[in-house]
Amino acid sequence: MKKMLIAVCSLLGMIVIYQNCSPKKKVRAITQDERTTIVAHSLYYFDSFASATNDVAAKRLNGFLIQNVVLGAPDSDGLMSWKKNDSSISMVPLFTQDSLFGGFWVELCNQKGMYAEFISKLNALVIRAGEPATASTKAITLMHESFHAFMFSQHRNKKSQTDKEYAEEELLAYLLQSDFTRKIGGQEYETFLSSEVEQTIKEFGAGIKNSQFPQRKKYDQKLDIFFGQAMSDQEKDFRATNLWITTCLYAISDLFPANQVTEKQEFFIYSLYREQGLR
Ligand SMILES: [Zn+2]
Repeated sequence: MKKMLIAVCSLLGMIVIYQNCSPKKKVRAITQDERTTIVAHSLYYFDSFASATNDVAAKRLNGFLIQNVVLGAPDSDGLMSWKKNDSSISMVPLFTQDSLFGGFWVELCNQKGMYAEFISKLNALVIRAGEPATASTKAITLMHESFHAFMFSQHRNKKSQTDKEYAEEELLAYLLQSDFTRKIGGQEYETFLSSEVEQTIKEFGAGIKNSQFPQRKKYDQKLDIFFGQAMSDQEKDFRATNLWITTCLYAISDLFPANQVTEKQEFFIYSLYREQGLR
């Protein structure tokens, strides 16, 4: 009996030691309140910039989110969502420790960069909670991704998109994003952007006419003046990419006759996806 008691005690001791050493034990679980706060902040940033710029598309998309967004959280089975009805979209604040949920979440947690991302297979807008970015970058990326969420809500039963449909949707998202960014950046950014487009046409116009697009430039510190000091290299990367895509789209629109512009812009956007995985 004594031997058995010792065996049970040492087994219990081992379990305690194991639990203390287990990596899961060291990671604090994210509470529902913490995730709710991130959702509220994200919607607030988007709403503030949509109202301040009076951008019609941003206001509509913000209204669409306010009406349909519910809290979502990673779960080992996929997604836990506080869905209200069929049109609900889960907004999922993603923290580094969410990789503990395994599978798909590990992959998402390891991806760097974008602050927001719409994941159609989950009908969820993922917000990277730990990604340092200024409020304008958060609002701009949320606008782009909420456009994808809106488009998905219109074609929910469709299994997949053709390349052409993908390019059409992505072009619209980038045109809306460019417009919203211009309004946020104000007159000084507008002047800077015009000279970027002019210079691009001068240097690369002939190439663009043959579907050869210029490479993205390094981060221009002037962007800090228009949008506030960038908070991370990821944010600089986002801003430089945003400026480059807008510049190319506007250059295409100046270089081609009106009836060819959309087709050429779609080709450019599709090449971004095909060659660099940008979407
Ligand atoms: Zn997109």
